[in-house]
Amino acid sequence: MLYEASSGRSDEALEINPLYARDATNEIPKWKLAESEVLPSTAAQIIRDELALDGSARLNLATFVSTWMEPEARALMADTFDKNMIDKDEYPQTAEIEMRCVNIISNLWHGSVREGEHATGCSTTGSSEASMLAGMALKWRWRAKMRKASKPADRPNMVMGINVQVCWEKFCRYWEVEPRFVPMEGDRFHIDPEAAAKLCDENTIGVVGVLGSTFDGSYEPIEELAEVLDRLESKTGLDIPIHVDAASGGFVAPFIQPELKWDFRLKRVCSINASGHKYGLVYPGIGWVVWRNSRFLPADLVFKVNYLGGEMPTFALNFSRPGNQVVGQYYNFIRLGFSGYRSVQQECQNVAMRLSSEIANLGPFTVLTDGSDLPVFIFALTNTGGNFTVFDLSERLRDRGWLVPAYTMPKHREDLAVLRVVVRNGFSHDMADMLLADLKRHLDHFAKLSAPLPSGNRGGFHH
Ligand SMILES: *Cc1c(COP(=O)(O)O)cnc(C)c1O
Repeated sequence: MLYEASSGRSDEALEINPLYARDATNEIPKWKLAESEVLPSTAAQIIRDELALDGSARLNLATFVSTWMEPEARALMADTFDKNMIDKDEYPQTAEIEMRCVNIISNLWHGSVREGEHATGCSTTGSSEASMLAGMALKWRWRAKMRKASKPADRPNMVMGINVQVCWEKFCRYWEVEPRFVPMEGDRFHIDPEAAAKLCDENTIGVVGVLGSTFDGSYEPIEELAEVLDRLESKTGLDIPIHVDAASGGFVAPFIQPELKWDFRLKRVCSINASGHKYGLVYPGIGWVVWRNSRFLPADLVFKVNYLGGEMPTFALNFSRPGNQVVGQYYNFIRLGFSGYRSVQQECQNVAMRLSSEIANLGPFTVLTDGSDLPVFIFALTNTGGNFTVFDLSERLRDRGWLVPAYTMPKHREDLAVLRVVVRNGFSHDMADMLLADLKRHLDHFAKLSAPLPSGNRGGFHH
C-alpha cells in the first residue's frame, strides 16, 4: 500500500513511500497532536494495526453486548451516523421512530397503553443511563410522598441483591441514596424476596429486581418479590414499588419464556429498563426505559425541546446523542418481528444449554446455571484443590482468542470462583464445538502438571 506524505507547502516534493517504510522520525505522536496531516488511508491503517491487538469481538464470551448485526443493518446505521437524537425538530422522523420503539417495547412488556395513547419511556445510551432515569423517578416520587406526609425526606434507601450490576451502585452514590444489599447465601446467587422485604422501611424508594443477573444469568423471582411486597403493604401500609432491571432479560423472556410474569403484568412493577445493545441485538450504545404510565414519571424531571414548531418532552442525562442506534433498533423490530426474535433467542438458548451440558460431561466442572434463564451459564471446578484454577483456564483459553472471564462471587460466596459464558446471536453450535475442543485440549495439558500452578493474577473482572 502506498501513501503520499501530504503537504500544502511548495518547498516539499510530493513523497510517495510504501506505508510500512515510514522511518522512526516520522512516527505519529501518541500523546499530543501531530504537527501535520497524513492521508486518510494511512491514518486508518495505523489505527487498524493497533486495534488488531484487541480481542476478537466474536470470540468474546464475556460481553452481553451485540457483536454482530446484519450487513443491511450496518449499512443503514452507517447512513444515519449523522443524526442527532436531540434534534427532534430537524429529524422528526427519527423522533417518531424512537416513539414507535418505546411503544413496541412497552407492548412487549404488557404495558397497558390504550389505543391512540403513547407509552411513557425513552431511549438512552444503555441500561446504565436508563437505571439513572428510573432511579431518579423513584427518588422524586418517594420525596413527594414524604413531603406530602410532612415527614423528613433526606435519608432515602434502595433495596437490591448484592448481585446487581454496578450501575445501581453508581446510581446510589451519585444521587445520594443508601444502597441496602441482600447478600448471597449458599447456592442462592441473587435476591431473596423475604430478606429484601425485611430491609424495606418508609425511606425505601424502591426495590430493584434483576431479570438476568450478570453474575450467573439467572432470573430473580420478580413475581414472588411482588407478592412479598404486597404482603408487606397489607401488614404495614408500606407501598414499595419495584423497578425491574431487565438489561438482558427484557429482550429474552418475552420471546422464549412468555409465561414468566416479571413485567407490567405485576401491578407493583412501575418501571423497566433494558439494553437495546444486548439481546435487543443492536451495536452499542442504546438502552430503553419504560414506565407503567405517565403517573410514574414525575413531571419536573422532564424537559421540553423544539419539535415541529411545538415542544417535545425529553428525559435524558445527555443532550446530543447518536440517532442511528434507534434506527438500528427499529430495523431489528421490523426485520425480525416477534418470531424472528424468538428464533434468535431460542437458538442462543439451545447453544447455551447444549454447551453447558457438554461442559458438565467433561468431568472436572460443576455447572451452576445452565442457560435456561438467560442464554448465559457459569461453571466452577468441582475440586478446587487441584493443579489449576478457573483463572488459569481463562488465561489459557486466550491462546486461540477465546475470552471467557473468571471471577469470584461477591460477599458471603467469595470462596466460589467461576467461569461465565454469554451466548449471543452469532455464536453458533459450530463455534461452541470449537470452544469445547479447546477446553479439552487445556484440560489435557493441566492433567499432565505434576504440581499446582503458581497463583497468578486474579484481577477483578467487571460485569
Ligand atoms: C449490562 C447490564 C447493565 C448495564 O447496562 P449497559 O447497557 O451496559 O449500560 C445493567 N444491569 C444489568 C443487569 C446488566 O446486565
